[in-house]
Amino acid sequence: MSELAERFETHDPGEKQVAEKIRCDACPVMCYIADGRTGACDRYGNVGGRIVRMDPLTILDHAAETGGAVVPFVAEGEAWNGELVNTGRRFVTAIGAGTTYPDYKPAPFIVSQEVEGVDLVTVVTEGIFSYCGVKVKIDTDRHIGDETGIVRSQGEAIGHVTTGEYGSQMLSLGGVHHLTGGSKAEGRATCDALLNLCNRKPVELAIDGGATVIVEAGKAPVIDGKAEHRMRVGCGSATIGMFATQWRGLVDEVVVVDDHITGVVSEHQAGKVLGWEDTGIKIVGRRSTPGRYFKVSEPGLGWGGTTISDPLSILGDWNAKKGARPGLSLLMVSTTGEQFAYYELDDELKPVEKPFPERLQKSVGLIEENCEPALCTVLFIGGAGGSLRAGVTENPVNLTRSVQGLRTYVTVGGAPVYVWPGGGITLMVDVTRVPEGAFGYVPTPALVAPIEFTMRRDDYVRLGGYENEIRSVEDILAKGGEYLNPRRGTGAPVNNPWPPLAQLRRARANGAE
Ligand code: SF4
Repeated sequence: MSELAERFETHDPGEKQVAEKIRCDACPVMCYIADGRTGACDRYGNVGGRIVRMDPLTILDHAAETGGAVVPFVAEGEAWNGELVNTGRRFVTAIGAGTTYPDYKPAPFIVSQEVEGVDLVTVVTEGIFSYCGVKVKIDTDRHIGDETGIVRSQGEAIGHVTTGEYGSQMLSLGGVHHLTGGSKAEGRATCDALLNLCNRKPVELAIDGGATVIVEAGKAPVIDGKAEHRMRVGCGSATIGMFATQWRGLVDEVVVVDDHITGVVSEHQAGKVLGWEDTGIKIVGRRSTPGRYFKVSEPGLGWGGTTISDPLSILGDWNAKKGARPGLSLLMVSTTGEQFAYYELDDELKPVEKPFPERLQKSVGLIEENCEPALCTVLFIGGAGGSLRAGVTENPVNLTRSVQGLRTYVTVGGAPVYVWPGGGITLMVDVTRVPEGAFGYVPTPALVAPIEFTMRRDDYVRLGGYENEIRSVEDILAKGGEYLNPRRGTGAPVNNPWPPLAQLRRARANGAE
């Protein structure tokens, strides 16, 4: 049983002996917590009879941009030393902020900051996301499972294989149906996998009828025990287009083996334009357009994401009437340049493998060189259009309209997000841009993610915000908040812009109208 599952098991909100325990109200589980202990999610504890958020509130310092170096914690009651985080480029994230739950109260921190003459407000809270999941992009040509194939973690269904993208296999994991719509075990396994993926830990996923993949955000995928190194340079047809000139004069025919579009240079438009001679080659597959073939094999873990280990298996008989002749040279290569072989036709027009010639090494090397490293990308996707909006404004739909109208800028742990067009506030964020360990969970089950809303102060007041709750950064640093946890400063991730800057530019643009 996973650590997370054990906590689900051991938690009992209906415990009878609650006399010396105090209730945590930060989620619907309502743990009763004994002094010195933490609740089921480990995020809140009973410290001397008071509910305390156990992780520090994280404040990013964008001037330092140290890439994550953390300055020492500032204990409750101590003054902020101001050395690192006193630059005017601070951002109070929601990491460690606590939640708005129950939703009748304002968000834990509503922060004001004047930036380049504009008064901004950032509303900071840790959202509880029952409607959430991750989209996983796995850079590989290898077939890891059929579209709609079930993806499992700890034996439970937690998602499915979705539409493949260019050079990548895609998974859609989590979502409310797996979190809450199946068995308890399914919900727990889903929550566990999502939490680990979002916190950039490795997770082993097994696909029904397909491969076992270890996914870790920002790292190479491991497919059936083998680490993937390269993302393909392009499909077989694109590879022909890119490298046809490199091969001209060095070899008579080139076949780029690909599960999707296998390319043949002598027939391909690129080859024709360059004056490539016919070779009488025959590809076993479905011809789409000249020099582009679909379905030369079944999808698999072999050459170019096919099942092929012997590339000659996709060739039919060579036709002498169409240019085949003894001695004709043939290069066969995969879309990553990892597999390649060289052949010459014998007197009976059968290809015979020969030592790979020096003259072709450079072009194969160029394919490899043009391949990017294979990575796993994990995007957290969550719906913030629900009750947490009540912690921002007394009239929740105003927040939705403000986000949709680009007057409110949304971040997750200070990282920029993509907000889907249309109704609600459905956002996506690259978890590698969010400070490490930012995601949590509650056993309902649901994920907890930091979320910040930044806007002009006058806009905030106009949309029905809690004006009386607005505090300065200095005050927050010095006094903290309701959950009594310390504050810590950390250098902002180097590739994240200072969150309100985009908002500021928009505000200026609006003001100029
Ligand atoms: S699960 Fe966590 S947030 Fe929910 S009541 Fe228990 S300690 Fe509080």
